[in-house]
Amino acid sequence: MTSVQPVRGTQSLLGDEADRLAKVVATFDRVRRLYGFKRVEVPTIEQTAVFARTIGETTDVVSKEMYSFEDRGGESITLRPEFTAGICRAYLSEGWQQFAPLKLAASGSAFRYERPQKGRFREFHQLDAEIIGAGESQADIEILCLADQLLKELGIEGAILQLNTLGDPETRSAWRDALYEHFRGHAAALSEDSKARLERNPLRILDSKAHEDWPIVDSAPTIDDFLTPEAADFFAQVSEGLTAAGVQWERAPRLVRGLDYYRHTAFEFVTDRLGAQGTVLAGGRYDGLIEALGGPHTPAVGWAAGVERLAMMIGEPEAEKPSVTVIPLGPRAEAEAQRIVAGLRREGVATDMAYRGNMKKRLSRANSAGAAYALIIGDDELDRGEAQLKDLASGEQRSVSLDLISEAIRS
Ligand code: ATP
Ligand code: MG
Repeated sequence: MTSVQPVRGTQSLLGDEADRLAKVVATFDRVRRLYGFKRVEVPTIEQTAVFARTIGETTDVVSKEMYSFEDRGGESITLRPEFTAGICRAYLSEGWQQFAPLKLAASGSAFRYERPQKGRFREFHQLDAEIIGAGESQADIEILCLADQLLKELGIEGAILQLNTLGDPETRSAWRDALYEHFRGHAAALSEDSKARLERNPLRILDSKAHEDWPIVDSAPTIDDFLTPEAADFFAQVSEGLTAAGVQWERAPRLVRGLDYYRHTAFEFVTDRLGAQGTVLAGGRYDGLIEALGGPHTPAVGWAAGVERLAMMIGEPEAEKPSVTVIPLGPRAEAEAQRIVAGLRREGVATDMAYRGNMKKRLSRANSAGAAYALIIGDDELDRGEAQLKDLASGEQRSVSLDLISEAIRS
C-alpha cells in the first residue's frame, strides 16, 4: 500500500512554523480589541448561492476556485473561499441588523482551488475585519488604521497601502464606459481572459495578471476624470483622515475590486518581499453586497488578510522553553517527580520532565530544550526532603528544599 499523502495545496506545520500562524492570529486578536471589533464565528460551509451571489459569477473565485459539492440531502454547499459573504449572510439571518453599526472580526481557514505556489495554497487562513451598517468615511479610516496598526505590530515594514476610489454608481458607470471604449480599441492585443472580460466586466481587465495586458492597462483612463463632486469629496475625506491618523498611503488610480457593488474606497497593502504573491491585505467598501443577498441597502467596508503571507514576513516567534526540567533518578524519585512536576505547572512554572536515558542524556535534553534549570531528584536526597537545582547557564548547583522549589527558581 502506498503511504498516505496530503491534499495538494494544504500544509501540515510543526512547532515554529505553526507558531508563526498563531502569532499572526493572536496579534490580530489583540489589536482588534483595541479598536472595539467584536469577534464572530461563522460556518466553514455555506449554501453555494451565498458566495455565487455576492462574489460574482465573473470572478476567478466563483468561476473556477470554489470547492462546491452536493451534500447527502442534495443541497449545493461550498467551503468558504472568504469570510465577507458568510458574515453578511449571518448579519441577515441571525438578526444582527439590530446591533448596527457593527464592527466585526473573524479568522480561520478558507479554501480555493488554485495552483499552489509560494504564498498561495488551496487551504489557507484569513484574518477578516468588517464594519457593517456605516456609510461614513470614518468607518473606512478606522478599518484602514486597524490594518496599518496590525502590520506595524507584527513588525512588518515596507507593506505599502495602495488606495483608490471606485466612486459612486454614477462615477463608476461613466468610467466603465470609458474603459470599455479604451479596451475595445486594443481588443486584438488583449489576453484571452481579458477579451472575455471586455463585454462582461471591463473593470476587471485592470486587475489582469497577464503581462500582455499591462501596457494597455497602463494607458487606460483613470477614474479621476469621472468622479462626481460627492465621490471626490468622500475620497478626500478618507485620504485626509488617513494622513491625519499618521497612516502612509499611495494613490493607485487603477486599483479595482471587480464587482458592481463595490463603491468608493478600494485598497491593498502590497509588499515586494513575496514575489507574485505580494498582496498581504485587501479590501474596500461594498455598499451593495447585502442587497445582493436579499437584505436592505446596507453600507459596509471590510478587508481580509492572508495569514500565511503575513507569517512569512514576521520575526521568529518566541520558542517555547521550559523554565525547569525535572530529572528523577530511581523509582521512588520518579513517583515523587510526578507530584513535583504537577505542582510546578499548577503554579505557572513551565516544566518538563526528562525520563529517558542516563544522567548525561537527560541533562543534555534539558539543555537542548532551553531550560533555565535542571532539578535533579535522587532517592537519597528525597529522604532529606531535598533536590539538586542546577543553573544550566552557569553550571552552579545547590540543594533546595522540595517545598521551596518554585521560590528558588523565581529568585
Ligand atoms: P491574489 O490576487 O493573490 O489571488 P485575491 O485578490 O484573490 O489575491 P482576496 O480575495 O482579496 O485575494 O483575499 C485577501 C487576501 O487573502 C489576499 O490578499 C491574500 O493575502 C490572501 N489569499 C488569497 N488567496 C490566497 C491563497 N490561495 N493562498 C494564500 N493566501 C491567499
Ligand atoms: Mg486570487
